[in-house]
Amino acid sequence: STTIAWLRNDLRVADNPALAAAQRSGERVIALYIHEETIGVRPPGAAARWWLHQSLNALEVDLAALGIELQVHQGDPNVIVVALANQENASGVFWNRRYAAGERAVDTAIKEQLRAEGVAVESFGANVLIEPWEIATGQGKPYSVFTPFWKTLKQRHIEQPLDTPAAGKARSVRAVDDGYAEPHWAAKLSGHWYVGEKAARRTLADFLDYRVGRYPNERDLPDSDATSNLSPHLRFGEISPRQIWQAANMAADIAPENAGAIDKFLSELAWRDFSYHQLYHRCDIAKEPMQAKYGGMAWRDAADDLRAWQRGQTGLPMIDAGMRELWETGYMHNRVRMLVASLLSKNLLIDWRQGENWFWDCLVDGDVASNPASWQWVAGSGLDAAPYFRIFNPVTQGGRFDAEGAYVRRWVPELAAMPDKWVHTPWQAPAEVLKAAHVQIGTTYPAPIVDLKASRERALQAASAL
Ligand code: FAD
Repeated sequence: STTIAWLRNDLRVADNPALAAAQRSGERVIALYIHEETIGVRPPGAAARWWLHQSLNALEVDLAALGIELQVHQGDPNVIVVALANQENASGVFWNRRYAAGERAVDTAIKEQLRAEGVAVESFGANVLIEPWEIATGQGKPYSVFTPFWKTLKQRHIEQPLDTPAAGKARSVRAVDDGYAEPHWAAKLSGHWYVGEKAARRTLADFLDYRVGRYPNERDLPDSDATSNLSPHLRFGEISPRQIWQAANMAADIAPENAGAIDKFLSELAWRDFSYHQLYHRCDIAKEPMQAKYGGMAWRDAADDLRAWQRGQTGLPMIDAGMRELWETGYMHNRVRMLVASLLSKNLLIDWRQGENWFWDCLVDGDVASNPASWQWVAGSGLDAAPYFRIFNPVTQGGRFDAEGAYVRRWVPELAAMPDKWVHTPWQAPAEVLKAAHVQIGTTYPAPIVDLKASRERALQAASAL
């Protein structure tokens, strides 16, 4: 008979408890992936869908080497999983857990149906460092503040990752997910990324070997390569947080001079867990503000401003650089994500959900927990949000984190010849400077669509009216 490992956000063969359990059964194993069409499961955005296609094909190669079949289906998981289990006379169906309310509802319904039909079902923790219900405050409540969450997490035993499964009899590789038509913009993304489990491991090793030492000082500099770039790999589970945790701790043992930097890196990885903790314990965080009063915010309906923000045409160089980086690569540096989110939700007073949706569609790492949780954090409606009056100023932030304008010049080539002094405020530059740099404000590069000072006041007033 057959055992099915239903893979979702865990497209890897190593440290995959569901796959390992299926293999242990000694039966024929089918790895199943479903493009789910059902309420409650958020379909990936366009950029993430591109990544998913590459990732499924990489997984097919790795599973073929192990002799495991991969089936890719599309439709309602309630129908597909049960039908496949019946058709294959499956004795068991295994999966690794997911945490959004809608996803859990789907999984629970399928579990009940399969069990009623006599099929064994087991689920495993594999996609976060610690299951959201296994960590709580002294009062037994979910955490709403990151620092104590991190302090507690650090002291907890994080399970060791599982080894790579033993190879079976290799089979030949097939094309999977072949219904997917690469969009015309796919070439842009492929120039920036290597997708799949092997690439994820190489990215981690490269980061820990060569870059992690610079992480604490340079992780906020958008033009530096000091961060790991692991987010899309984590998004699709090509690598597990436990594998990262273990590898990072081993790297700290080998190179104690990097221990502080590695601790900082792991604390950022813990933000991902914290996002999942919130996703599990709170409302539907992509739809509802975590602090209810923000539901009454007087958002502006400003389609032109939204479009200018989306297209990187706001006339504010750091913002435009970030939005264009996103459009070109499917990624944006964390510091700049904070700036563009703050500009949209505060200066432009546009509902953060509009921005969250745009990110969701454009990011290769668009994540059900980290994306809405981070948007709420910046917009002020998150539980652990910075106080509302902390509104990022993209000009001063540019001066601090992109002092020489290298990031702006890379993504906003119209400003390539602007001198450092004016690269973050081209609209204030003297006429002769603009002329020498071949910049005409309003023609070659837009004038700012919003006055930063006045719009800051407007945002503060809107918040104080709540
Ligand atoms: P590193 O600094 O190398 O961090 C390592 C890993 O830790 C990351 O890959 C990520 O998994 C996790 N991590 C780091 N910072 C955060 C954070 N603040 N919140 C949650 N996890 C974190 N991250 C996503 O993975 N998906 C998203 O959809 C997403 N949307 C965001 C939206 C906004 C408005 C903001 C401000 C941040 C968002 N982030 C999101 C968090 C963060 O920007 C990215 O995780 C990070 O930029 C990825 O780059 P990296 O892998 O090089 O990060």
